[in-house]
Amino acid sequence: MASPAPRRTKFILDEDRIPRAWYNIVSDLLANGIQPFPPLHPGTGQPIGPADLAPLFPMALIMQEVATDRDIEIPDPIRDAYQLYRPAPVFRAHRLEAALDTPAHIYYKYEGVSAGGSHKPNTAIPQAWFNKQEGVKRLATETGAGQWGSSLALAGALFGLEVKVYQVRASYDQKPYRRMLMETYGASVVPSPSNTTNYGRKVLAETPDSPGSLGMAISEAVEDAASRDDTKYALGSVLNHVLLHQTVIGIESIEQMAMAGEEPDVIIACAGGGSNFAGMAFPWVGRQLRGEGRYRIIAAEPAAAPSLTRGVYAYDFGDTGMMTPLVKMHTLGSGFIPEAIHAGGLRYHGMAPLVSLLKDQGLIDAQSVHQRASFEVGIQFARTEGILPAPESTHAIKVAVDEALDAKARGEKRVILFNLSGHGHFDLSSYEKYLQGGLEDFEYPADKVAAALAGLPKVG
Ligand SMILES: *Cc1c(COP(=O)(O)O)cnc(C)c1O
Repeated sequence: MASPAPRRTKFILDEDRIPRAWYNIVSDLLANGIQPFPPLHPGTGQPIGPADLAPLFPMALIMQEVATDRDIEIPDPIRDAYQLYRPAPVFRAHRLEAALDTPAHIYYKYEGVSAGGSHKPNTAIPQAWFNKQEGVKRLATETGAGQWGSSLALAGALFGLEVKVYQVRASYDQKPYRRMLMETYGASVVPSPSNTTNYGRKVLAETPDSPGSLGMAISEAVEDAASRDDTKYALGSVLNHVLLHQTVIGIESIEQMAMAGEEPDVIIACAGGGSNFAGMAFPWVGRQLRGEGRYRIIAAEPAAAPSLTRGVYAYDFGDTGMMTPLVKMHTLGSGFIPEAIHAGGLRYHGMAPLVSLLKDQGLIDAQSVHQRASFEVGIQFARTEGILPAPESTHAIKVAVDEALDAKARGEKRVILFNLSGHGHFDLSSYEKYLQGGLEDFEYPADKVAAALAGLPKVG
């Protein structure tokens, strides 16, 4: 008798299956009569054009920001650098399924195989390359948890660009190993607010012990780039071109699910600014928009920074210093500063405009997750699948586990695909806090939400 086919755990693509083009969802949105809202100039309230962004970004990235073609070709030098870690594997979570005793099939795309340990090099690499092509010598950026700063520092090293990172003060103090990694790749790192920008000096004069925030660090990095000819700005999430670069995740996963011989019913990713969510979800949403499949697609966000589930859909600033263009997005207000006890990352006040548009159109759903529950499933995942997930990624795992348990309660087969955006090797102090019982749940209070929203700019 023939023995049964061995069960498969990993679905692995060869290097020549690294996508040759990024997927631009704007094309399929327009074909369905859905029009994205333009960014507005903060002074005039009028739509901004490519020239307005030229002090901050190279023209190639600005053109991607406004592109309407469906496929945007990936230049060969970028595919070569992607070969350091792509294609990323898809795993079938057999051991987690067994622990949950669920009839659901759970798959995850693992983006922690990059040198930075997350999906962020998927955009750091092209951003550095396109800047280099246009003669830029130096990049300024912000980092919160440190993953974006490390990824851009790595990309700067690969293509020979100087990198200056404004790291949120609280994270600079709590995560010295992230700073050391950035410095090892050759970047220079200062805590934000810093005394090296006008904005940073202003904040420090008012609040000398400010813990900083992503919004403040963005203001400092934008000021740095705008005030130097040799320097441009790089952002790790939110913008259309960043989401575009991340679509390699979803494009590969479509081919890998075909290898597994399954169509997902539910697709899940965590959402801070929205880039790994978009990277996983947009190619699948595109199939849905073209009538090629139907999926439930869920963004998982923390209860402590719930822009999609509790924010409003309105024009707002991307930063705290009110220097960036106004973009239409789900926002908690640009003055939002997350509670210090929130350990799970995903602390941004807003959400990528394209993700916000899909939510507003009912093309995707969102759920918020408390931090103790997310660490709890993170540990269950580590003990079954072996990978210690990034605290951000545990939000997606929590929603995936809830789906698997719901399928069990209903006695249904359900195919679940989620994005495991990174590993948590630099976040062990948060795990230690959880294991010692020191992490509390925190729901962003309604009065604070209302106060922040009262301060939204009056445009749009
Ligand atoms: C940065 C980061 C996130 C959140 O950013 P998005 O733009 O929402 O993807 C999530 N997971 C990991 C591992 C990250 O490094």
